[in-house]
Amino acid sequence: MSSHPEFDTSRVPVDPERPPRVRIAPSPTGDPHVGTAYIALFNKVFAERHGGTFILRIEDTDQTRSTPESEAAIFRALRWVGLDWQEGPDVGGPVGPYRQSERLHLYREHAERLVAAGEAYRCFATPEELEEMRRTQKERGAKQPYDRRYRDLPAAEVARLLAEGRPHVVRLKMPLTGQTTIHEALRGEITFDNDQLDDQILLKSDGFPTYHLANVVDDRLMGITHVIRAEEWIPSTPKHLRLYQAFGWEPPVFVHLPLLRNNDKTKISKRKNPVSLEYYQAAGILPEALVNFLGRMGWSMPDEREKFTYAEMLEHFTFDRMHLGGPIFDLDKLDWLNGLYLRELAPDALLARLRAWLLSDEYLLRVIPLVRERITRLSDFIPKTAWLFGEPTPLPVESYLPKGKTAAETHEALLAIADLVDKHASWQAAPLEAAFRALCETLAWKPKDLFSVVRLVATGSGAAPPLFDSLEAIGKARTQARVRQALALVKP
Ligand code: GLU
Repeated sequence: MSSHPEFDTSRVPVDPERPPRVRIAPSPTGDPHVGTAYIALFNKVFAERHGGTFILRIEDTDQTRSTPESEAAIFRALRWVGLDWQEGPDVGGPVGPYRQSERLHLYREHAERLVAAGEAYRCFATPEELEEMRRTQKERGAKQPYDRRYRDLPAAEVARLLAEGRPHVVRLKMPLTGQTTIHEALRGEITFDNDQLDDQILLKSDGFPTYHLANVVDDRLMGITHVIRAEEWIPSTPKHLRLYQAFGWEPPVFVHLPLLRNNDKTKISKRKNPVSLEYYQAAGILPEALVNFLGRMGWSMPDEREKFTYAEMLEHFTFDRMHLGGPIFDLDKLDWLNGLYLRELAPDALLARLRAWLLSDEYLLRVIPLVRERITRLSDFIPKTAWLFGEPTPLPVESYLPKGKTAAETHEALLAIADLVDKHASWQAAPLEAAFRALCETLAWKPKDLFSVVRLVATGSGAAPPLFDSLEAIGKARTQARVRQALALVKP
């Protein structure tokens, strides 16, 4: 890979002696998010532009929410988009392991180092004590819920509590007065009043690090030169800077990319747009169209052309053409681009894409058992399975309402269904059925009524094959999108 120093930008400096090492650091706590692909694209193209390295790190220190399925789905989805990495948990690399749960000893060691240096301290507050503190601090109009009462505990007292085996966390000592200024590469200096910053917990009482400690320690140990991440992390950056100072380390360059927005300018969310990469794959979006679309989120080509490949983006890439106004994640635009790419494919190439999509033997073999008993001619197969390949046409609102249920009641039920779908991890018929039956109890709806709503929404027909097998075949991401669409249709 060659570097292109002539394109080094003033806003995001690159040391010619030190090719960039950048990373994405997703938490494996849900479906692979389109925002992860957006951030990955800009990290990758920047690294490649300057002959650097793009790393994938898994931030799975939230043990209650992280799952191996989610991690596997992130790998799969990013590879589908074509955003592959040079170092990561699955491909290895010189500074691994690349999964935070395998690096816990490093965080503990580093927390201890800060305690020994007087930059951090042990806080023995119990949950009840913290609750009480929160209340009094609020009454007093204090800026922080934590009153720092363990910050200057005499050493002998700390030793006594430790000897007693009292559970404790490790907190960072933040300066109490003055200001912290971060240098943000695209925005310049951003100043925070220190009295707004709390003594951040670094290590929890179970010995697990918080995001802040693990993130900074890993960025340092992995030699990260540029932290390129979403705008929502700007408020964390002064804490990170403070950690770099406490360790005596040179901070990396910080670059925060603008948040993707829905058409109404609100932050992109699954309530308004599908956000799972799996949805876009199943919905028939081509990865190169998605990359093109994401490349236009805040960034433009020198000639402002809308259609460009990854290679073209790479050729012209500089953060100097990053615009900070919230880019709109406009699905009509994505469809338009996708159409352009589709029409460029020669018939045999298009056939290959169709086969790689849902017309694979593997998927057809999953579909066949669903309709085998319900067809008399081969030609029946197409109409009987159309809802598995394309989006069912929305029905008139009344058709979704079970007898005796109002639109408002059905809307409520759809909200609960959407929630169930969002939270359901193992997308398989039997556990899905159990979950939906439990939901009937909660909502006090007859299974027959609730299932008919789910069936109509998911398949567009009252006469589809067994419901939960059908949901399994549609997949979580598309079921989610169909439920959201029905929610917009069946208004209270
Ligand atoms: N684990 C964080 C996330 O889920 C990483 C943020 C960062 O890049 O520092 O996005």
